[in-house]
Amino acid sequence: MFKPSAITLALSLILFPAPQRAAEINKIDLPDIGDSSGTLITPAEEKEFGEAFFRYLHSQTSINEDAEIQEYIQSIGQKLVANSDAPGHPFHFFVVMENDINAFAGPGGYIGVNSGLILITETESELASVMGHEIAHITQRHLFRAAEAAGRLSIPTVAATLAAILLGTQSPALGQAAIIAIQAGSVQFQIDFTRENEEEADRVGMQTLAGSQFDPRSMPAFFERLQQSSRYSGQAVPEFLRTHPVTASRISDTRGRAETYPYKQYPDSLGYQLTKAKIRVLTATDMSEVQKYFQPRLTQGTTEQRTVARYGMGLIALNGQKYKEAETVFQQLTQQYPEQSQYAAALARTALDSRNYTTALERYQKLVNQFPNNAAIKLEYITSLLKAGKAEQARKVLTSLNPETQQLAIYWELLAQIYGSLNRLAESHRYLAEYYFATGDTENAILQIRLAQRSKGLNFQLSSILSERLNFFLTQEQEARRSR
Ligand SMILES: [Zn+2]
Repeated sequence: MFKPSAITLALSLILFPAPQRAAEINKIDLPDIGDSSGTLITPAEEKEFGEAFFRYLHSQTSINEDAEIQEYIQSIGQKLVANSDAPGHPFHFFVVMENDINAFAGPGGYIGVNSGLILITETESELASVMGHEIAHITQRHLFRAAEAAGRLSIPTVAATLAAILLGTQSPALGQAAIIAIQAGSVQFQIDFTRENEEEADRVGMQTLAGSQFDPRSMPAFFERLQQSSRYSGQAVPEFLRTHPVTASRISDTRGRAETYPYKQYPDSLGYQLTKAKIRVLTATDMSEVQKYFQPRLTQGTTEQRTVARYGMGLIALNGQKYKEAETVFQQLTQQYPEQSQYAAALARTALDSRNYTTALERYQKLVNQFPNNAAIKLEYITSLLKAGKAEQARKVLTSLNPETQQLAIYWELLAQIYGSLNRLAESHRYLAEYYFATGDTENAILQIRLAQRSKGLNFQLSSILSERLNFFLTQEQEARRSR
């Protein structure tokens, strides 16, 4: 069956006035691909759509690269998914290091949570309630219209458009064809979820939340606080409320539903508190403000809260290159809580940042043995091996990373560095190309492959990989250009 390419569609949009254009669209408005769930795109296309969306996000916003934060958000997300109504659906959770209050669900199960949203949550259950709501948008297939548009325009175009809408940015790279199509209203491209969508995401999300042992009451509480903060503080409406409009009736419905669950206490995990502390330091524009935040908390609240404040103060010291101070704080915390990976990792990091590589390696080695499944620690261990000039060993550790971690952009970046250190420049360029591609910069990916091809003494196998990757990147770039 005929499927229009982006270019023919763009041309038809430009050449025909509106009524004919609508007729033209209607003519081709037949689902040419269908699966049992009645969607217009296949699971393979949805995967491609999701990957294009995630790559594009990298080029537009700052995706968190801290592996410890990544591990945390992924663990909460997967806990929720396991208790959702689609436990087998692929999901990828990540943090966007932006202060705007936002969270969003993209195609292929890519769910982003802004650091700004994490910081304004008061409990872990509040964070989980937002994530449960986003997961429900995916499992209930509320992105159907975007998927439909992807079948008509091109996947890169719709991925870029969707990213721009969800981030609330006016992207200069947003496809011209897409703009025309959307403005003309000929493509039903709606991402402001309908009231029914929102109601359903709340309902389904709350079941997931409760099933995962988080507090159902946190959902109405958080949404209400969000709504009030924008109403009274005179601040701009958080992006989250723009794409997920919160109404009084939505809050009261959600509250009514939450009340049907028995009341009990839901303590926050230490991981939640430590992650928040780290995000607070990493995203700070004024470190003295963060210091003012943690200082009084050193002597207030529960033992756990005071410990988190000490960790926060240690991170401030580390960030400000006050290594002696950081060393003292993290030594004490590690001795007191030897089972807590974050404290020991911060101690190892202090040695790494202060270029005390022998100590750093000793510490990471011990940590890798103590926490063999912790990818964040392994990644830092690899970095310290590289800095200590042990590239071959770094390469061995890198191959032992789990498949999930091998999908992260940092994986390619480290591989490129390792091969650079081993003086194998063709491979180094090749992996740097993968890094650029993963972060939405296909032009530089192409450049790196060309540099690799110019290297001397390429063997047949590597040559053919290089030309295959070059063709692939060129096709991707052409497709993206076509829709621009
Ligand atoms: Zn929503």
